[in-house]
Amino acid sequence: MPAAALSPEVLAKYEPVIGLEVHVQLLTATKAFCGCRNHFGSEPNTNICPVCLGLPGALPVLNAKAVEFAALASMALNCQVRARSIFARKNYFYPDLPKGYQISQYDKPLAEHGWIDVPAADGTTKRLGITRLHMEEDAGKSLHDGFSDSATRTYLDLNRCGTPLAEIVSEPDMRTPEEAFEYLTRLKEILLYCGVSDCNMEEGSLRCDANVSVRPRGQEKFGVKAEVKNVNSFRFVRAALQYEIERQIEVIESGGRVIQESRLWNAGEGRSYSMRSKEQAHDYRYFPEPDLPPLVVSPEFLAEVKKKLPELPEPRRARMIAEYELNPKDAFTLTATREFAERFEAAAKTARNPRRVANLLLSEVGGRLKALGLEQEQSPVSMAGIVLAADLLDEDKISSKQLKQLFDLCFEKGEDFAAVYEREKPQQITDASALEALVDQVVRDNPKQVEQYRAGKKTMAGFFVGQVMKASRGQANPALLNELVTKKLEG
Ligand SMILES: [Zn+2]
Repeated sequence: MPAAALSPEVLAKYEPVIGLEVHVQLLTATKAFCGCRNHFGSEPNTNICPVCLGLPGALPVLNAKAVEFAALASMALNCQVRARSIFARKNYFYPDLPKGYQISQYDKPLAEHGWIDVPAADGTTKRLGITRLHMEEDAGKSLHDGFSDSATRTYLDLNRCGTPLAEIVSEPDMRTPEEAFEYLTRLKEILLYCGVSDCNMEEGSLRCDANVSVRPRGQEKFGVKAEVKNVNSFRFVRAALQYEIERQIEVIESGGRVIQESRLWNAGEGRSYSMRSKEQAHDYRYFPEPDLPPLVVSPEFLAEVKKKLPELPEPRRARMIAEYELNPKDAFTLTATREFAERFEAAAKTARNPRRVANLLLSEVGGRLKALGLEQEQSPVSMAGIVLAADLLDEDKISSKQLKQLFDLCFEKGEDFAAVYEREKPQQITDASALEALVDQVVRDNPKQVEQYRAGKKTMAGFFVGQVMKASRGQANPALLNELVTKKLEG
């Protein structure tokens, strides 16, 4: 099996080709084709009805909210939404699929021709194509564990039957596991920003299958692909792809042939196992769903959906980098979720200097959270607290040293900034003669630095300001102090 067995030279002879299929459960209140509750974690078999169980004579009715969410996701992924798409039956037998078919879309999906931009290794961006986004329904769940007789029986929970899904199929545009990881990360972020899914991988709201093949570099024709099924974290997808690429290269290098098959990733062992050779598309005997009319979306409907399209993560980051003078890493932190980005910006807008709010949030608060291993939601200092701190600093009512002490107290006592500030109200020395005495003392004590300053090293002023601030125990008014130091050194 592939390990460190393959030399970099051998690996470099081949080019991986990766495509991803992502299923996301849409966050509707009810299911795709009936009024049953769409909810994870209910008592087994409580959210079911004749429609989602596929009992004879029961007829599906399409959930308008599911169409809205699927259309919204399509737009956010730069897809063209088809005015008229067709639901189709995908026939297969599985115990958790009581109807014996899944309602999906086949040759006329809801949306096509989209893309996601991801950062490329060379610092540019790479555009990864999205072939299609189509609507379908989820199947139920087989429960193989957790019962006293699980060794001999499998139980069924059909609550998930009929949960609305969007399946998003990429073009085979990815060439490295890292690009696949980036694609998934961006895709999830976009879907979360749109609010169409909670994308919770542990609960199965977002599931990923990866298709991967290798071909000799320079060859146009794709190699035979294997599909790695249902990997439950993006890091595992990356690891599974790396493993699969090396496995296929090893097969070819040792004179064998890669076979088309589905494989299951075992994260614990760090390897995948063959599951079954892959059914061909015609095995599913797709045909148009006779119980549902074509899905027609009007320009008016699409215009309404478009209004709900939020500012998406990537453009938002670009704008915030410019507006708050952030570096890309900080921009990622501030846009980690749409909710957080919006809370930050709403607060920053009320401050005298919004950039300072960003700065305090990232450095002073972020740094303390990180040191304590806390999440942003656990911060004792609210956005309003940060705005207050930024304004006080901006108006020179407190020094940055005092600010640090106040933040320390906030974290020590688990209190917000306003409460701590009200109680502590740090004193400032604004009396020029008192400060002057301190400046004189520091200048007397540091003749060498005075010489350097007078020889042209003007940055040395910062040293004196720092020393006097220290001597004043952080209580010197910064503006006044700056003025006095400059006057003294120049004089
Ligand atoms: Zn139902």
